[in-house]
Amino acid sequence: MIDRTTLLFALPGFRVLNVTLDPDGGRLVLVESVAKEGGCPSCGVMSSRIKDRPICRLKDLPNGAAPLRLWVCKRRFVCGEQLCSRRSFTEVSDQIPARSRLTTRLRTKVSAAVTATNRAMSEVAADYGVAWWTVHRILVAAAVQVLGQAAPTTMIGIDETRARSVRWFRKQTGWARSDPWMTSIVDLDPAHPGGIIGLAPGRSGACVGAWMSLQSKEFRDGVEVVAIDPSAVRIRDPPGATAGQDRLGPLSSGAPSQHDAHRRPPAGPT
Ligand SMILES: [Zn+2]
Repeated sequence: MIDRTTLLFALPGFRVLNVTLDPDGGRLVLVESVAKEGGCPSCGVMSSRIKDRPICRLKDLPNGAAPLRLWVCKRRFVCGEQLCSRRSFTEVSDQIPARSRLTTRLRTKVSAAVTATNRAMSEVAADYGVAWWTVHRILVAAAVQVLGQAAPTTMIGIDETRARSVRWFRKQTGWARSDPWMTSIVDLDPAHPGGIIGLAPGRSGACVGAWMSLQSKEFRDGVEVVAIDPSAVRIRDPPGATAGQDRLGPLSSGAPSQHDAHRRPPAGPT
């Protein structure tokens, strides 16, 4: 029988073990999964042998004006399959995926708030009690789902653009300078329509690497030439070349420039 507190909290697949009041008037809710066993993510064998019960702290939907903290009493099961290299595993569920710090119902609400409206990410973050970066990651994930991933190409161009003029703003610790840059990634393959296929905040190799990590393995493996004005870098030796040959070369070696891709008209019907 479902107790009334579990019914009221309504986190699918979980029961409420305890609720305590914090000194600031907030509530601490301790829950556990109602599942009796879990499946090993490596071999798929089900197990109900509990090795450990770690407590994980997660963010959940706000409930009223008082702060709400959610602690989950997870179970770490022993994998009984002798041929499996994984000796134990932590249970996961639809509402609490592996390594997630948010419940799925909170993530869904934040995603809807930041994608279906014109609200600022800072405003959404404040409403749901999460960090700005959390909202940004959810927005990027939603955008990738809607826009899809870039089509595979052998040549890409990278260039940096100042996203906004330099501004100074005041923080509690003093004046701070805002100098935002964006890095644009374009498709340089002459057989493709061209144009911008990606934007990454920042102007460092790390931001390009982060953008590449979001692309498919097929895209990452297919890139052979990266053009960075005013030179091109061949990252994979062409067939027949000695190792290291053409590792660095001028754009005149055949790769179109970053700006050619912007100027090139869309491919017409064939
Ligand atoms: Zn296993």
